[in-house]
Amino acid sequence: MVLARAGARALRGAARAAIPCLWRGRHFSSGKEPVENHPVTPMLQHLVYKIKSTGPITVAEYMKEVLTNPAKGYYVHRDMLGEKGDFITSPEISQIFGELLGIWFISEWMATGKSAAFQLVELGPGRGTLAGDILRVFSQLGSVLKNCDISIHLVEVSQQLSEIQALTLTEGKAPLERSDGSPVYMRGVTTSGIPISWYRDLQDVPKEYSFYVAHEFFDVLPVHKFQKTSHGWREVLIDIDPQVSDKLRFVLAPCATPAEAFIQHDETRDHVEVCPEAGVIVQELSQRIALTGGAALIADYGHDGTKTDTFRGFCGHKLHDVLIAPGTADLTADVDFSYLRRMAQGTVASLGPIKQHAFLKNMGIDVRLKVLLSKSAEPSLRQQLLQGYDMLMNPKKMGERFNFFALLPHQRLHGPSQERNANQSKPSPSPVAGFSELTWQ
Ligand code: SAH
Repeated sequence: MVLARAGARALRGAARAAIPCLWRGRHFSSGKEPVENHPVTPMLQHLVYKIKSTGPITVAEYMKEVLTNPAKGYYVHRDMLGEKGDFITSPEISQIFGELLGIWFISEWMATGKSAAFQLVELGPGRGTLAGDILRVFSQLGSVLKNCDISIHLVEVSQQLSEIQALTLTEGKAPLERSDGSPVYMRGVTTSGIPISWYRDLQDVPKEYSFYVAHEFFDVLPVHKFQKTSHGWREVLIDIDPQVSDKLRFVLAPCATPAEAFIQHDETRDHVEVCPEAGVIVQELSQRIALTGGAALIADYGHDGTKTDTFRGFCGHKLHDVLIAPGTADLTADVDFSYLRRMAQGTVASLGPIKQHAFLKNMGIDVRLKVLLSKSAEPSLRQQLLQGYDMLMNPKKMGERFNFFALLPHQRLHGPSQERNANQSKPSPSPVAGFSELTWQ
C-alpha cells in the first residue's frame, strides 16, 4: 500500500495557519437579518444602476456579478482564504487532505493502466495549496510514477489568486510567462520541473487524458432560486428596496422565468436552488472523461437533492447577510449532487456523494496522521495535526457537511464490456479508493 511510503519530508507544510472557528457551509443567511450597517460599496452602486435600468435581477446574475465581475468581483482582486481572510478550507487546514487526494489520483492512474502521460486539472485552486500537496505526493512516489509525463492546468478567474498559486507552486524560482489576451494567460514551471498553465475557462484546457479536481469550487457557481406558490414556481429575484435607498431586497418574479426549465417535474420541495453552470461544467468533464479516460474528484459541501434555502455569505469568518455590502463577502450555495449525477448520467459513471469523514477514513487518514505524529516531536505541531484532523473528520465540523463525488469512465466500474467479461472471465475492476473501505494489498 502506497500510503506508508509517503513519509519523506513528511512534515513539510504541517505548520499551517491557526484554525479559525468558521468554515463555509454551516449556516445560511438570506438577507432577512436586521440591517444596522450597510455601506454603499462600488458593487452595490453598480447593481443599483443595473436594476434601475433593466429591472430586478436573478440570484444567479447577482452571484455572478458580485463574485466574478472582472472589475469589482469579490474573487478577482483579493486573497479571501485563511486566518486573515473570510473562510478556511480543508487543504488550508491540513496537509493530509491534499496528500490523500494525491494518492487517490495515483491509485486511479494505476488502476487504469498507468498511462505514459496525464494532466492534473484543478478548478478554482485558491492559493494552490491543494495542488502543492498533491504534487508533493507525486514527487514522493516518483518511483511509482516513473517517467510519467505530468502537466498541471489551473482554471482560475482571479488574477490575484493566480499570482499566489504561482508563488506556491514555483516558489518564484522560474520566471512566469504571461499573455493577457490568450486563453492560456500564464505559464510557469513548478519547483520539481512540472509545467503549469493557467486558464479562465475549462473549455480551453487541452482535451487530453486528465485527472480533474474541484474542491469548494461548485459552491461558488451562480444559483437560481425558486419558491413554490399557488400559481406554480416563481423565481426569487433581487430588487431595490423602495423604503430604503441603496438597499437591496428579495422579491418574487410575477410570472414564470426561463430557468424554471431546470426544476424536475416531480420536485416535492417548496423552495429549490438550481445551478445550470454546474450542469454545463459536469457535462464538459463527463464528455472529456468519456473521450480520453481519466477521472474527476469533486469535493464540496452539499446535499443529494434534499435541501432548500442554502444561499449564504461569509466575511471575516462570520456569516454575512448576502444582500449587504456586496463585493466584500463570499457568496455560496450548497452543491446539489443529485443534479450533478443527472448531468453526468449516460456519459460517465459517478460515485458518491460520500461524507468527507468516510472518504478520508477509507483513504487511510488515520495511518497518515500516525506517521506524521511519529515524526513530530514539537508539541505545537502535534497539536496542530490533531486539531486539523478533528476539523476535517469530526461529524459536527467538516466531516459530515463535506462530500466527495467522482466521475469515471463506465468501463472503470464495469470492466471493458459485459460480454467480453463473461467470455474471457476477466477479473472485475479494482474498487475505486475512498468510496469503499480501504483494503491493504
Ligand atoms: N479550492 C480552493 C479554493 C476554493 S475558493 C480551496 O479549497 O482552498 C473558490 C476558488 O474558485 C477560488 O480560487 C476562486 O477564485 C475560484 N473561482 C470562483 N469562480 C470561478 C469561476 N467561475 N471559474 C474559475 N474559478 C473560479
